[in-house]
Amino acid sequence: MKCLKCGKDAYKSTTTEAIELGFGVLVIRNIPCYKCSECDEILYTGDVVQKIEQITEKVKELMQELTVVDYQKTAA
Ligand SMILES: [Zn+2]
Repeated sequence: MKCLKCGKDAYKSTTTEAIELGFGVLVIRNIPCYKCSECDEILYTGDVVQKIEQITEKVKELMQELTVVDYQKTAA
């Protein structure tokens, strides 16, 4: 996987994403991603992007001001 910003190699990693939903913040931990060795740009594969969207949709309904979920433990 190459970085979209600088074209350097990105290596497999995990990250935490905070998504602002207006009425609250959703934090998803342990998201599999690629991280650029040069500029630290985070890249997601298509299926990960899709799952993040699914998790967001699901959590929205039972959301509090701050919700933290673990990507690996969330079956979406
Ligand atoms: Zn880069």
